[in-house]
Amino acid sequence: MQVVTTPKEMQALALTWRRDGLKIGLVPTMGWFHAGHLALMRKARTVTDRVVVSLFVNPIQFGPTEDLDNYPHDLERDRRLAEAEGVAVLYAPDVALMYPEGCTTRIHVDGLTAGLCGASRPGHFDGVTTVVAKLFNLTLPHSAVFGEKDFQQLAVIRQMVRDLNFPIEIIGHPIVREQSGLAMSSRNTYLKEDEMDAAHSLSKAITHAKKMVKQAERPSPEQIKEAVSGLIVSHPQCIIDYVEIVDRTSLQPCERISSESMLVLAVNINQRIRLLDNSALL
Ligand code: AMP
Repeated sequence: MQVVTTPKEMQALALTWRRDGLKIGLVPTMGWFHAGHLALMRKARTVTDRVVVSLFVNPIQFGPTEDLDNYPHDLERDRRLAEAEGVAVLYAPDVALMYPEGCTTRIHVDGLTAGLCGASRPGHFDGVTTVVAKLFNLTLPHSAVFGEKDFQQLAVIRQMVRDLNFPIEIIGHPIVREQSGLAMSSRNTYLKEDEMDAAHSLSKAITHAKKMVKQAERPSPEQIKEAVSGLIVSHPQCIIDYVEIVDRTSLQPCERISSESMLVLAVNINQRIRLLDNSALL
């Protein structure tokens, strides 16, 4: 496996692969790999000939009070894990090379970015779409794999790809969970022992919501949201950012539960750790 650190070298390599008729897969990440990232890499390998994993903690998607500076980082550890998955290139550029002075273009997807994480993290999705578009141009992938854990992000990327005619297949990968049910996340590493119960309340609340919709008389979205919120805030360390039930495509609130309904959650643990989770309800 090669570690590539410059955009120029990355694009040149991708062009050579393209000329040789090889299919390229991209898995964008911010590093500190866990089994969720590795599953995305494996998926990319099954559909393409050369997998590029980008490892870039993208400063323009973080707000001024967020965890950019202490985001977990260990290039050597991640290099070993990616290599074991048969990844061809780990692309890990410096910030100054991705955003040289004078780089002022931003990509903004309207509509889908307005609510949920977009409401509490202004500018976040502009940072995400801008870096993903740059990564597409640098790695020239035929397919790119994203996790469903970041459900809104996946919807926004699909919209950008449609709107800007990127000839790229976007593949969503189901959430990979710990045995306990906790959705894997690089940010789980910040969790202290006495915060674990609070962290587990997200997946437990989802399980409870799925049980509720199986009842003979199906509850309304409001009733489910109330029950889910109640379970989460019974842990005083949890501050809910949102608990919503939305249509999986439009991300608009659902009036009744259907196979298109997604329960989406964002919770801050002790004001330090932002955790996301989601699930279909039927
Ligand atoms: P991140 O490094 O957190 O930016 O995540 C990189 C990619 O991995 C994104 O597409 C995430 O949605 C995906 N991802 C992160 N955690 C999980 C998980 N537990 N299961 C599936 N995909 C995940």
